[in-house]
Amino acid sequence: GSGQAAVSNFKRKPVIVIVVGMAGSGKTTFMHRLVSHTHESNIRGYVMNLDPAVITLPFGANIDIRDTVRYKEVMKQFNLGPNGGILTSLNLFATKFDEVISVIEKRADQLDYVLVDTPGQIEIFTWSASGAIITEAFASTFPTVIAYVVDTPRSASPVTFMSNMLYACSILYKTRLPLVLAFNKIDVAQHQFALEWMEDFETFQAAVNADSSYSSNLAQSLSLVLDEFYKNLRSVGVSAVTGAGMKDFFNAIEASADEYMETY
Ligand code: GDP
Ligand code: MG
Repeated sequence: GSGQAAVSNFKRKPVIVIVVGMAGSGKTTFMHRLVSHTHESNIRGYVMNLDPAVITLPFGANIDIRDTVRYKEVMKQFNLGPNGGILTSLNLFATKFDEVISVIEKRADQLDYVLVDTPGQIEIFTWSASGAIITEAFASTFPTVIAYVVDTPRSASPVTFMSNMLYACSILYKTRLPLVLAFNKIDVAQHQFALEWMEDFETFQAAVNADSSYSSNLAQSLSLVLDEFYKNLRSVGVSAVTGAGMKDFFNAIEASADEYMETY
């Protein structure tokens, strides 16, 4: 690290993996797969659920926001709709987050990863004060990496792909944490096209220009912004359903954690 006094007892483990992505990208299924993979590979994982509104989780969580905050009651008490209820629940949980950090610190020697699932609507976590507080609390105590899950089959159109990448880009610059793009659902569609677009922005521009529904000047400028963004991240193809790509994913997380230790 850069030797900040505040992080003098900073350790390399556990690595915090915050899983974010558009609703439906497969975050929860991917989390389930990561948990199974850790069990099968003798990786010591700890699992955290930050989605107060989820009804059933396919995996067991060691720390669950639902144990502390009752989302339905928060909605009633503050007269809120679903998103307001999730946001307020997250705010309430964020005020106690130092306790969560201490729990992890106490177990740090027995843990390799803390896997964190976030609420379905991505902006509730990525653009809220409490999301920022939670992310900061993690990142000031442990190496922390963002795993951005992409619905690969749904990103096959250049314009959708660009929107998704711009969103990931905004998260990278907002959190300033290492980011891994997990191109999910490669059992349905391979992510080769994405790698090609990321590798060579002229190929991508040609694809956008062929899509007449978009201003090509804007797309041209944005693809240059993204070109810079791609240099700052790692990308892997995964399938939460078949388990493909798990090794690649954890390798990318390890490399990102190393980068974190060097940079922060
Ligand atoms: P979340 O909203 O991001 O948490 O997404 P979910 O985990 O609930 O998944 C959304 C949908 O995508 C569900 O129908 C999943 O079964 C499906 N899904 C998730 N991952 C994969 C995958 O790797 N392959 C395929 N074919 N479907 C997936
Ligand atoms: Mg989910």
